[in-house]
Amino acid sequence: MKILVINCGSSSLKFQVINTVTNDCLAKGLCERIGIDGAITYQNLVKKLDKVKETPAIEDHRKAISLVLEKLTDPETGVVKDLSEIDAVGHRIVHGGERFTDSVIINEEVIKGIQEVSPLAPLHNPANLTGIRACREVMPKTPMVAVFDTAFHQTMPAKAFMYALPLHYYRDLKVRRYGFHGTSHKFVSEELAKYMGKDPQDLKMIICHLGNGASVSAVKYGQCIDTSMGLTPLAGLVMGTRCGDVDPAIVDYIESRENLTPSQLDEIMNKESGVYGLSNKLSSDFRDLWDARENGDRNAALALDVWAYRVAKYIGAYAAAMNGVDVIAFTAGIGENDAKSRRLVYQYLGYLGVDIDESVNDMTHGKIAELSTPVSRVRVFVFPTNEELAIAKDTERLVKTLNGSYYENLTK
Ligand code: AMP
Repeated sequence: MKILVINCGSSSLKFQVINTVTNDCLAKGLCERIGIDGAITYQNLVKKLDKVKETPAIEDHRKAISLVLEKLTDPETGVVKDLSEIDAVGHRIVHGGERFTDSVIINEEVIKGIQEVSPLAPLHNPANLTGIRACREVMPKTPMVAVFDTAFHQTMPAKAFMYALPLHYYRDLKVRRYGFHGTSHKFVSEELAKYMGKDPQDLKMIICHLGNGASVSAVKYGQCIDTSMGLTPLAGLVMGTRCGDVDPAIVDYIESRENLTPSQLDEIMNKESGVYGLSNKLSSDFRDLWDARENGDRNAALALDVWAYRVAKYIGAYAAAMNGVDVIAFTAGIGENDAKSRRLVYQYLGYLGVDIDESVNDMTHGKIAELSTPVSRVRVFVFPTNEELAIAKDTERLVKTLNGSYYENLTK
């Protein structure tokens, strides 16, 4: 199948066309500054054409989708002859609340459901819905699937997802841990088990998704039992610009001392904290931080140390939660590419019996590799994530169940 994968933000729209037979990405791109002025970047990967950037006016998401479809069907730069070659569209949806525990075929009821959980992700879910509506207008006959960032984590038991707050905040406001990056944690845990020739049912896995946004999950016998992000993606690890876990009383203390509103501090915790904040706003990019550290910058050194220590503590917590761990996986931008940052993390893991081949670690950038030696009690891998492919595969799985009944399904 040829699946169009859409990841819609409030003023942006990322897209890929994926062939689910070969798992190849045929074309990809990004519409930006939607509703402001507009820009589209597009690349045909089949013909190996260079990335092109144009700046047409993009007044809304509907226009963005039309432009994307024009590019995909263009006789010179396109990857399909006409739109009927696109078998389905997979939409990335940030928050599925407690309602969506798996991907679903999109119909009116699903749209309503996504709307209902929007208060939990007020910046993201409405933007995701805009993408769905725009796509349905432009390609009304094409089946669409919603793939949720939260769904994989819905198997967490209550003892892992409940916060110790008055119970009615959970009952009435649905305040609980949801977790994010679920598509990535699911993809890496399932595909890595396959790669190892094992059944996920036989493995206790810790997946470290270490990118600009970062999270760790404990996957026991194929099911997520805990994860580091919470009600929102601000919790857990130290990230590029997000603070991760802090003492909740800090919020009131800083707001009153610095005369900040809750939304101002929220912005600071999301966009000016993490390794960026710790490095005194030097950079959120780990390449810059390592360069600075190696040139004697003590703030950059501290930022990386705080980051790694937090990852190591979560690994320890999840090894305890699962009463052991068989496999640890590093994935996403830093996990896949940054050997020095991986070393900062695994140097804490000797007590688990982790033994790493340093030369394999040094050589591993953006590809599958086993870092652990044959004597290691825990197997440690670098395993590249591919969230778009995971969305395309899930879309294919669900569309195959339709058996031509898409129109009936639409009106349910
Ligand atoms: P992601 O959010 O998964 O795309 O990860 C982005 C982050 O990965 C960047 O901000 C960098 O900090 C980091 N990164 C990407 N490539 C490299 C690399 N070759 N070496 C070190 N860090 C990298």
